[in-house]
Amino acid sequence: MGCSFNCVYCYIHGSKYGEHIPSQLTAKINAPEILYRQLKNRARKKEHGIIALGSATDPYLPQEENLKITRELLKIIHRFHFPLNLFTKSTLIFRDLEILKKIDNSAHLPPDLMPQLKQGVIISFSFSTVNEKIAAIFEPDAPSPWERLETMQKFKEEGFLTGACLMPLLPFISDSEDQLDIMIKSVKEYGGDFVIPGALTLFGDKPHDCRVRYYEVLEEYFPELIPKTRSIFKSKSYPSSKYQIKIYNMVADIAKKHRIRNKIISE
Ligand code: SF4
Repeated sequence: MGCSFNCVYCYIHGSKYGEHIPSQLTAKINAPEILYRQLKNRARKKEHGIIALGSATDPYLPQEENLKITRELLKIIHRFHFPLNLFTKSTLIFRDLEILKKIDNSAHLPPDLMPQLKQGVIISFSFSTVNEKIAAIFEPDAPSPWERLETMQKFKEEGFLTGACLMPLLPFISDSEDQLDIMIKSVKEYGGDFVIPGALTLFGDKPHDCRVRYYEVLEEYFPELIPKTRSIFKSKSYPSSKYQIKIYNMVADIAKKHRIRNKIISE
């Protein structure tokens, strides 16, 4: 619980998803035991839904190198033939290539997705930018965007369905047409099958909450962007629908130009 990549925008801090997260990074050492029980039960009922791994803590933090909890979870997922959508910013995922291949080849896919989804593993790498300097400000302890792109390329070469979650796009920093073009073109060049955009969300008013941290970082590095950013959020945690529609349409157009899907599977 928690995440040592320390992204400034991490929605866990200040949202309902982080309510019970301890202040220090904590390992769920009994996760394999619990997952085993849950999947055994689901598999018996043939409920092989896609498991999302990495939505609130990166599954490949540096601590995983020794702890090997994610590795144990993958073995259980393979044992019960569940499909998997894994989100990460880390290069450590490459350590588990062989077990991911086994899951990819043997997962029982949900019947409604079978015609389009032919593989048991989807690997989604997360990017808020591919600019190294901006990434160092907003994702100080995560592997660099280029390391992520190179890892994505290796997975593509190994035959995986892989792509990029452009989440969150940073307003007036990485959401311009030029920046999106560079990002999407890079994902395509490094073998990505898809790009999925997501707008920034800002929660909470306590010192470690992402809304407070985000504005502090803007104050330090991009003070001129504070009024514009406040104007699209107003008092809400989500930017205006007008803003969201604009960036999603831009991503759709640029993705089309670079011949890459803006959804995981085609219809
Ligand atoms: S990698 Fe994801 S979970 Fe970890 S701090 Fe960054 S946004 Fe939060």
